[in-house]
Amino acid sequence: STDETDEPVKTICPYCGVGCGIQIQQGEEPGDVQFVPWGDAPVNEGRICIKGGAATEVVAHEDRLTDPLIREDGEFREATWEEASDLVVSELERIREEYGPDAVGFFGSSKTMNEENYLLQKLARRYGTNNVDNCTRMCHASTVWALRTSLGAGAMTNSMADLEAECDLFWIQGANPGEQHPIANSQYFRQAVLDGATVIQVDPHANKTTRSFQIDETDRHQHLQLNPGTDIPLLNIVLKTILEHHEEHPDDGWIDEEFVEERTEGFEDLVETLVDFDKKSAAEECGIPLEDIERAAEAYATADNAAIFTGMGMSQHACGVDNVQNEINLALITGNLGRPGTGVNPLRGQNNVQGTCDVGAMPNVLPGYQLVDDDEARESVEEVWGFEVPDEPGLTNVECSHEFGKSVRGLYVMGENPVMSEPDANRVEERIQNLEFVVVQDIFPTETVEYADVVLPATTWAERGGTVTNTDRRVQRMRGVENVHENTKHDLEILSEVGTRLFDDGDELFDFDDPEDVFEELREVCPIYHGMTYDALDEEGLHWPCYEPGDEGDPFLYEEAFDTENGLGQIEGVTHQPPEETPDDEYPLILTTARLEEHYNTGTMSRRSPTLNRQTPENFVDVHPTDADRYGIEDGQDVVLTSRRGEITVEAQVTDDTREGVVWTTPHFAAASANRLTNDVLDERAKIPEYKAAAAEIEVG
Ligand code: SF4
Repeated sequence: STDETDEPVKTICPYCGVGCGIQIQQGEEPGDVQFVPWGDAPVNEGRICIKGGAATEVVAHEDRLTDPLIREDGEFREATWEEASDLVVSELERIREEYGPDAVGFFGSSKTMNEENYLLQKLARRYGTNNVDNCTRMCHASTVWALRTSLGAGAMTNSMADLEAECDLFWIQGANPGEQHPIANSQYFRQAVLDGATVIQVDPHANKTTRSFQIDETDRHQHLQLNPGTDIPLLNIVLKTILEHHEEHPDDGWIDEEFVEERTEGFEDLVETLVDFDKKSAAEECGIPLEDIERAAEAYATADNAAIFTGMGMSQHACGVDNVQNEINLALITGNLGRPGTGVNPLRGQNNVQGTCDVGAMPNVLPGYQLVDDDEARESVEEVWGFEVPDEPGLTNVECSHEFGKSVRGLYVMGENPVMSEPDANRVEERIQNLEFVVVQDIFPTETVEYADVVLPATTWAERGGTVTNTDRRVQRMRGVENVHENTKHDLEILSEVGTRLFDDGDELFDFDDPEDVFEELREVCPIYHGMTYDALDEEGLHWPCYEPGDEGDPFLYEEAFDTENGLGQIEGVTHQPPEETPDDEYPLILTTARLEEHYNTGTMSRRSPTLNRQTPENFVDVHPTDADRYGIEDGQDVVLTSRRGEITVEAQVTDDTREGVVWTTPHFAAASANRLTNDVLDERAKIPEYKAAAAEIEVG
C-alpha cells in the first residue's frame, strides 16, 4: 500500500464524505508529509477546500501519540507493545469470563478505513457480541433506517455527477453542503445552479449554502428558515399542496400517477394522514408564511428532475426516521426516484462513514447490510468466518454509554471520541469512569484518552493504505507514505494482533498480510462489494452495488425496482412530533448545533491544524439581534449558555443568520463543548440522539 519511490502518493482527503483525491509527498522525517494537488482526481479534478489543503498539517504534530501508554496509579506511563497488548487481551478475557461478551462495547470510526472497521466488527462478533457501532449513529442512523426500509439501501440514491448533469431543482433540507461538502457544492451543485437549476433550502440557519446560491438576480431560489424541529409539518404542507393541486388539475402531473401505481405502496395512507391536516396552523408552527411553502411545493412538483439532499438537520431528531420518511414520500409521489438527477440523497459527513456502515460496524447488520437476525444472511457470513454470530442486535453506541458501569464493563474505542461526541457529555464523563477497562486506539490524546486504561498509538491516514467509501457510494483506495513514527502501528496490525492473541482460532481468523488481504475476505461476505478488487478500484474507484467482477457499479439506484421485499417504494404518512424539549419560562430559547467548514466533528484533528484553527480558534454562539437586545448582549461579548444538562461560556455573535428565539453553536471545541448542553433522547428506531433541539437560556457572562 505504500510507495517506495519519491513520487507523490495518490490518496483521499481524510475529512468529509465527498472523497476528494489528493497527493502526498513524504519528506525525510517521520510525519513530514507535504500536500500535492492531484489534477485529474476522479471526484474533484484537483480542486480542494481549506480542510483538504491543510490535512497534512496534523501528521507531524507534536501531540501525536508515539508510544503505548498504560495507566498506573492514575498516571500514564510509557509501555511496550507487548505489555499493552497483554493487558488488553487479559482484561477482555477477564470481562468476558465475569460478565459475558455483551459486557464490552466496540466503537469503530468513520475516520478509519473499510478494512479496519471490517476487522473490528469481526473481532467484536468473534468475542461474542453485536455491541459494535460507529459514529453514523450520531449523524445519519435515522436516514439509513428510513432509506433502507422504504427504498432498499441506506445510501445516496444518486451520484454527484448525475445530479450536476441532470438535476433541475435541489431541495436541500437540514444539510449545508456549502460548508460541510464544499467541493460537492462548488464543483457540482453550483454548476447546476449556474446552468439554471433552482435551490430550495430548508434550514433554521442561514449559512454558506444560502449564500452560495444567491448568485443570480432571479427570485427562483428560496430559503425557508423554519423553526428547529418543524420539518414534518413543513413537508406535510408541501405534500398536501401537491395533493390538492392534483385533485383540481390532474393533467398538470404534479403527482406521477403511473409511478405511484406501479412502483409504490401506501399512497392512501399518506392521503388519510393529511385529510385533517391544517396547513395554516402548521405554517405558523414552522414560522414561515404559508404561501412561501406553497411556492416551494410548486417548484418541486413542476421540476423535470428534482433531487432532495438531506442532512443532520433532519436526521438528528427523536423523530429522525419520520423526518426522512417524509422526504421519501415527497420523492415517491412525484416520481423523483430511479432516474439521473433525482432521488433522496444523504450527504455523509466523514471520509468513510458510508463504508463503516457498509462493512457491518453496526449492531444490527453484518457486512453489506445483512441483518444479524436474518438467519439465512447470518449463516452465509458464519460459513465464511467459521464461527457463530449472535442473532440479536447489540447495543448502539449511545445505548452502550447509558449502560457504562451497569451491563457494560469494558470499552474498545478505535478512533472515536465519545466523551465529546455524545450528547449530554457531562453524564458521559461521569459514566465512563464507572467502566472497569477502557482501551483507546488513536493518533492524538483525545478527550476520551483521559479516561483510558490503555492507549494504543496508531498511524494516521497519510501513513497507511486501505479503502474508503464516499458519500455517493464510490469506493476508493487510500495509499500511505512509508516513513511512519517508529513505535506507532497501523490500526489493522493492532486489531490483528489483539485478535490472534485473544482467540484459540485467532491465527486463522485475524492473521492478514495487508489491507488487500482483508478486502478479499470482505468482498466474500459483502455482496454489494463482491465485484470489486484493488486492481479494479485502481484510481477511479467503483460505485456500489458492484455484485460481480467487471460490473461498473451504479451511479443511481432503483431504475427498475426498489430493493424492498416486494420491490415497491414504501409511502407512509407521518405526523408532527415536536422536540422533547420546547421553550418554557426557565429555558425560553431553542439551542441548535451544526458544524463549520474549517473544523471537523470533535476537532481532534482540525483544532491541531494551524491553518484551520486560525480561521476559528474558539466556539461561539449566534444570537438574533432581537434576542440580543432583550438580554442586553453586545456582539463579541462572552455569554453563558445553559440547558438542563450543563453550561458553557462562549462569545456571542449577534446576527440574523439565526431566527429569533434560536441560539446556534458548534460541537468542535473542547473548552466549550456544545454537547455538554445537548439532549440524549433517542429516536425510537434508529437510536440517534436529538442534537438539533434543546431548551436553553443565555445570560451575559
Ligand atoms: Fe476534503 Fe471534503 Fe474538502 Fe474534498 S470537500 S477536500 S473531501 S474536506
